[in-house]
Amino acid sequence: MEKIPLNMGCRGAAPAPPPPPSPVTGKEVGRIGSPLPQHEIVPSKQTSIKKDKRPKELTRIITYTSFQTNNRCYQKHRKATHVGIVVHSTGAVNKTLRRYVNDEEHLGRNRYGNHWDRPTVSKCMHAFIGLDREGRVAMAQTLPWDIACWGCGSGKRGSYNYDPTAHIQFEICQGSGTDEAYYREAIAAAEELCAELCLRYGWQADAIVSHREAALRGYASRHGDPDSWMKRFGDSMDAFRARVAERMAAMKEADA
Ligand SMILES: [Zn+2]
Repeated sequence: MEKIPLNMGCRGAAPAPPPPPSPVTGKEVGRIGSPLPQHEIVPSKQTSIKKDKRPKELTRIITYTSFQTNNRCYQKHRKATHVGIVVHSTGAVNKTLRRYVNDEEHLGRNRYGNHWDRPTVSKCMHAFIGLDREGRVAMAQTLPWDIACWGCGSGKRGSYNYDPTAHIQFEICQGSGTDEAYYREAIAAAEELCAELCLRYGWQADAIVSHREAALRGYASRHGDPDSWMKRFGDSMDAFRARVAERMAAMKEADA
């Protein structure tokens, strides 16, 4: 196995100077593509999420649409036919969505103006998971699902950003290595997002990889996220995929 520094995650852009007046880009709250009542994800006290039998209505995540229209990636609008998902975590300890997403109304004000909705930022994700203005774990979609993102860079075989190996990619805003309550909530939201996307596009859970795994396969820059963060809580990508598969089965059953 290739050696990758454990604490290496996806660092955010360096803080930029004066805060420009931030236009509100967030518009709606709902499930991916359809309206949804807001529910909070209740943190599990159990060590194993696998045995967590949540009521169905709690498995849905709060969703905002906050496209990063000032980012050059959004403006290029390069179409992509995605074949899977890459999961990232930010590497920096900052749980708030407003650090990366410009949506003051829903996520609160980024007083440093260092979110990624700027023309000078050379990365752009499809979504972020982190805390909204009210301190609830939520998902903010930052690119349309059918557009290539600038997420994982490239490796010696190519890039999971673009066809024919394009992947939908999202960041989980990292908490500290000891904040297990937040970790459990955020990772549950990530599972939910993955399960919904897999069902929508007809993928199995094995279509999900971490940035680290994508790098080891030769399709991403060398990073260790989010595996290094997961490890802090005894979790792994294999366990994550297993839980996504369970959620998919539960969703299918609920929709049957
Ligand atoms: Zn990453």
